[in-house]
Amino acid sequence: MRVITSVRIMQHLALRWRRQGVHVAFVPTMGYLHAGHLSLIRRARRLARSKGKVVVSIFVNPTQFGPTEDFARYPRDFSRDRKLCREAGADIVFAPDTKAIYPRDFSTYVVEEDLSWRMEGESRPTHFRGVGTVVAKLLNIVLPDVAVFGAKDFQQAMVVGRIKRDLNFPVKIVIAPTIRERDGLAMSSRNRYLEGPLREQALALSRAITKARGAIRQRTAIQADALRSELRTFIEQQSAMRVDYIEFFDPVTLQPVHSVDRRTHMALAVFVGSTRLIDNAALDGGRP
Ligand code: AMP
Repeated sequence: MRVITSVRIMQHLALRWRRQGVHVAFVPTMGYLHAGHLSLIRRARRLARSKGKVVVSIFVNPTQFGPTEDFARYPRDFSRDRKLCREAGADIVFAPDTKAIYPRDFSTYVVEEDLSWRMEGESRPTHFRGVGTVVAKLLNIVLPDVAVFGAKDFQQAMVVGRIKRDLNFPVKIVIAPTIRERDGLAMSSRNRYLEGPLREQALALSRAITKARGAIRQRTAIQADALRSELRTFIEQQSAMRVDYIEFFDPVTLQPVHSVDRRTHMALAVFVGSTRLIDNAALDGGRP
């Protein structure tokens, strides 16, 4: 496995692979890898097959963080990440620094204008502009045939799919399932911020999804507002928890629904102390 930090060298290699007909599978990440990321890399390995190449990018993208968010303290451990990438079957770790991706006079952004407004986009107004821009850049640098994203960031995966379609990126977008800890907490690099009792309290996110599933099993349809306030009360019983949003929506259009049923998708964002966690799931499943 090789580590590449130069944009020019990465793109040069990608162009050579393209000329040679080498199949490339790509997993973009911000590093501090956990089992969720590794499942994406293994999926990419299978998609690339034995003769193809797997590229994992590790880049903490400043433009997707708001001015008061955790960019500076986002966890980083490059030597551990490199080892995990090798074990999971990556061929290349692409790890550019901020200057390589954003030169001083950088001034071009990719903004998706339909799926981005609500939920994460409402709480983090410049977030998807940053995500769209970095994903477009990485696709142009790595030139993959297929790119794998996690369902953990469901809205992000949908926004990326729309950008790919609208701007004709010649890449297939694959969405891989959310990987969870044994007790249901969705894996996230930010879980490392959860100290002492906060780790236990954070279980309220996945438990809220389980509760919503239980509620629709008992009744055929439920008013979204009633279920939202029931779940908000449930979550905020934990002293350190504050709900940012709980949304029930159509999984294709991301439009909110008034009446929740088995076709509905649920997403939530919750502050656990000062750490903001997100989770989501289709409501027709079993344990999230
Ligand atoms: P991040 O490093 O947080 O930007 O995530 C990089 C990729 O890993 C994104 O496509 C995420 O959706 C995905 N990912 C993060 N956490 C999980 C998880 N628990 N299960 C599956 N995929 C995940």
